[in-house]
Amino acid sequence: MEPNLLALLACPVCKGPLTAKPHSLACENCRVEFENLQGIPVLLADRAKALEAGGAG
Ligand SMILES: [Zn+2]
Repeated sequence: MEPNLLALLACPVCKGPLTAKPHSLACENCRVEFENLQGIPVLLADRAKALEAGGAG
C-alpha cells in the first residue's frame, strides 16, 4: 500500500493511526486489524478482527 494513502486512513473505531501489515491494517490502540482486500482496506468496525494476543507486537 502507498504510504501516502495509509496516512489518510484512520481506524473507524478510535480514528487513530493504522499500521500496515502484509494483508491487513492494524490499529494498535484498539488491538484489532482490518482486512485488506485486493488493496482495498475494509475499514468497518463490524469487520474488525482482534489482533493475536501476546508477541512482540
Ligand atoms: Zn482503533
